Amino acid sequence: MDPALLERYRTSAPRYTSYPTAVDWRDDVDPTEYPERLARAAAGDAGLSVYLHVPFCAEMCLFCGCNVVITRKAERVETYLAALEQELRTVRGSGIGRRKVQQYHWGGGTPTSLSLAQIERVQGWFEDTFAFADGAERSIEVDPRVTSPEQIELLARLGWNRISMGVQDFDPVVQKAVKRVQPEPLTDAVFDAARGAGMLSVNVDLMYGLPHQTRAGFAATVQKVLDKRPERVALFHYAHVPWLKKHMTALDVDAMPDSDEKLAIFLDAIEAFDDAGYAYIGLDHFAVPEDELAVAHGEGSLNRNFMGYTTLRGTEMVSLGVSSIGEVDGAFVQNNPAEREYLACVEADGHAVKRGHQLTAEDRLRRDLIMSLMCNGRVHKPTLAAAHGIDFDQHFAGELAALEPMRADGLVELDSDSLRLTELGQLFMRNAALPFDRYYAERQQRGEAGEGTFSKTL
Ligand code: SF4
Repeated sequence: MDPALLERYRTSAPRYTSYPTAVDWRDDVDPTEYPERLARAAAGDAGLSVYLHVPFCAEMCLFCGCNVVITRKAERVETYLAALEQELRTVRGSGIGRRKVQQYHWGGGTPTSLSLAQIERVQGWFEDTFAFADGAERSIEVDPRVTSPEQIELLARLGWNRISMGVQDFDPVVQKAVKRVQPEPLTDAVFDAARGAGMLSVNVDLMYGLPHQTRAGFAATVQKVLDKRPERVALFHYAHVPWLKKHMTALDVDAMPDSDEKLAIFLDAIEAFDDAGYAYIGLDHFAVPEDELAVAHGEGSLNRNFMGYTTLRGTEMVSLGVSSIGEVDGAFVQNNPAEREYLACVEADGHAVKRGHQLTAEDRLRRDLIMSLMCNGRVHKPTLAAAHGIDFDQHFAGELAALEPMRADGLVELDSDSLRLTELGQLFMRNAALPFDRYYAERQQRGEAGEGTFSKTL
């Protein structure tokens, strides 16, 4: 790739799991109204997403950017589960549980830090609260270091059909440097248990940009993953944000690959997955061609929400647990991110919503555009214009002009009907989304759009 091209487009930008991105929410939602919002949303009939955050981990991986609670204390977990049960009672009382759940996910932290009995108990509460659609996508994050075959069997028996496991890198030197030592047999055992239990899909998370990673070393990791042929792979770029996550200061920055090496690692991986028949989806995902994400991507109907890429069309999401983010009744909402405050809020009010953002008509228009670009690599102007009652070229005249350099560089194609990323342009999709992000433009004017807020695009 032309180094000058990289230099021109190497910037910091949101990853757009939502638009507006959480740091740009206006905080104009009254948290005390959350139960009424749920009750209003109960009247809807589109499919629902439900998310649970289980924050507990036994120790901190140094690259981790999640909201986690490091503990081995059983009573701390039980206190959390008691609050969760209360939060679920509030949700149940709203009646929203009548809507069919089509996407269901437990994330963390480490959901499989819960015992067999705890998983069964908590799942019982969810079954009592929500109606699940036949064939709903039920997924859970598992950490091979703490997940037993018995847990995988139980999860399958309780209805889970997808697991997602963190690997990051198989190289023991890298694993030691990031304090996540995960011998390969542990990963293999979870794979075998998932296949044995009849899980429909296994996802593997990999990460590049970590200390001691090299092109050759990471290529070996990718090959080992390909040998196991998971249905999906997420290949994340490590975001080094020690000012937000103190534990990251313990990583050896000097041992990290430089920008050019990182890009080479990423491009090598894309080539290896492509050679193995995987479809390259969105920012950083790969899926076997028969996987529904790959099929939806091919059909141009892929969506994205706080859980990542999805085939689900409706966007409403009920989220539970500390720090979890949902979307209800036209607004984004987030629970309190601090464990102690979360527990106190649930005890006092039956829920822990702390902040939110009411989506405006302009937000919804721009969100649809950005998500279409991030998911399907294209925007069909007449469809978007009809859905939002605008003249596309007039409404976005300034934004289209801002894309002109990307068009000249062969990264986007523009015609009367559509805006499309080229194959090379897919690597720069966040750059193509930026001109349509009003909040980012305001941040730029305030001088707050730099690396301190968002991760690097490349
Ligand atoms: S196990 Fe996962 S959530 Fe927990 S610290 Fe490690 S990366 Fe973070």
